[in-house]
Amino acid sequence: MGEMNTEWIVVSLGMVAIYGLLVGSFLNAWVWRVHTHRPIAKGRSMCPHCKTTLKWYELIPVLSWLGLKGKCRTCHKPISWQYPAVELANSALWVSLALYFNPATSMAWLQLVIWLFLGSLLLAALVYDARWMLLPDAFVIPATVLSIGLAVLSVVDSGSTADLWPRLIATALFAGIFFIIWYASGGSWIGDGDIWLAAIMGLVLTGVQLVVAIFVAFNLGAIVGLSLIALHKKTRKSTIAFGPFLIIGLFAGLFFGEALLNWYLGIFV
Ligand SMILES: [Zn+2]
Repeated sequence: MGEMNTEWIVVSLGMVAIYGLLVGSFLNAWVWRVHTHRPIAKGRSMCPHCKTTLKWYELIPVLSWLGLKGKCRTCHKPISWQYPAVELANSALWVSLALYFNPATSMAWLQLVIWLFLGSLLLAALVYDARWMLLPDAFVIPATVLSIGLAVLSVVDSGSTADLWPRLIATALFAGIFFIIWYASGGSWIGDGDIWLAAIMGLVLTGVQLVVAIFVAFNLGAIVGLSLIALHKKTRKSTIAFGPFLIIGLFAGLFFGEALLNWYLGIFV
């Protein structure tokens, strides 16, 4: 790899990071508009407290929040740390995806672009579910469509459907189990959105990645759930949203699934 090549990679990743921040900023606005039932395309961004329309210099990801010290310029009410956190998270996610998929062919480019959109949709779903215990169709349905696209792309890429059948069976099994839990609990243990998430995980992950994703999701959910009970923030009867754990599990499985399995198998060699 030549010097030019290395520089080009650094510039490209820098661009991905900046676009990731901008799209993260858009996600914040979109999550809020879905919650308040406003159309995404209409009206300018405004302060949720005093409804003042924000100026361009108040809309710069992360920097505006830092410059305004986390307060609205007009009404001085606090602006949640979640706004810059979502911007940074989306940027980090995009850079991670770009590094992981390392697009060398045009097919790989398409795969990466679909993953960037899917990643942002899942991040929006995570934020919404964590705040309001609901996985809105506005995020979950397009994410499912993109996941089907990724599964089709893997068939086109490999030129055979050999890889597709185990993936479809895993999807049907995993989503089926979630459907049974949802149905049996009358929607009180998990929501119907979690069934969509289970299907997405089955469609986009390999077998190994899926196992790691499920392991991470359930353990993380248990640890956080028990911690909240211990801290008396929740009782055993109250529920916490499961979607965020599934989404964190999905990305843990994607990025670390194969490496974790190799490490685990290495112990016994
Ligand atoms: Zn304000």
